[in-house]
Amino acid sequence: MKRLDGKIALVTGASSGIGEATARRLAEEGATVVAAARRAERLQALVERIHAAGGKADAVQADVAVGEQIDALVRTTLDRHGRIDILVNNAGVMLLAPIQDARVEDWRRMVELNLLGLMQLTHAVLPGMYAQGSGHIVNLSSLAGRSVMPGGSVYSVTKFGVNAFTEALRKETVKQGIRVTVIEPGPVATELIEHVTDPASKARITEVFSSIEQLQPEDVADAIAYAVTAPPRVNINEILLTPTDYAR
Ligand code: NDP
Repeated sequence: MKRLDGKIALVTGASSGIGEATARRLAEEGATVVAAARRAERLQALVERIHAAGGKADAVQADVAVGEQIDALVRTTLDRHGRIDILVNNAGVMLLAPIQDARVEDWRRMVELNLLGLMQLTHAVLPGMYAQGSGHIVNLSSLAGRSVMPGGSVYSVTKFGVNAFTEALRKETVKQGIRVTVIEPGPVATELIEHVTDPASKARITEVFSSIEQLQPEDVADAIAYAVTAPPRVNINEILLTPTDYAR
């Protein structure tokens, strides 16, 4: 008997990095994983990898910055599996730039995905979790949800927002058997920094990340697995993890 046998886990941003590692980790623990992101072929490769390792998973292509696609993702998951026990709100982008030089379009993308998408997906899964009297929502924040660096203004706006939303969610759902966890990693070796559009900010963050021994996506997946496999009486409110050789 594995610890997450029978559980249905929806993981967003599962086509790379932390989401992909988390999908594999939760499947190893016995969960049936629904892997969501926009790149369908990457999701398919992940599903095949999980199946080859003896796990259960399927994929749903979805842009979780788009309201109708969020609703469709939840509907498809419920149609296929009947319930959602674990939601990992992981999809996110970090488009660093000084406020003066920033593209407003980048701000919009971050707010619509990191914050509004996460909030709307949470809103969409809650009725099912309330009805079943259980559930676990894990939100990916960041060290940038606790401190702000130059060039990180709106990314931090979204992650501070995730922290505030998560705390309210936990306080509102305590009597419903629903657990809520926020994860705050420092630098992790993923594709995240590849998407920065401001060249100077990209060079700076690449230098910071390459000057330390970054966390691996599996390290964050382990933290998420720890939270979701804790006994039902235990709510892991918050996990902050950083590279050992990194201080900020
Ligand atoms: P990656 O860039 O490797 O992964 C991001 C994931 O989000 C991809 O699977 C991507 O898939 C998905 N995604 C992006 N846009 C959308 C969208 N519109 N709809 C659906 N999915 C989308 O980065 P990480 O793994 O590092 O990031 C995961 C989370 O961890 C983010 O929330 C990030 O802020 C957070 N984090 C990361 C840290 C780091 O240092 N790496 C540190 C702290 C927090 P696709 O493009 O296929 O849609």
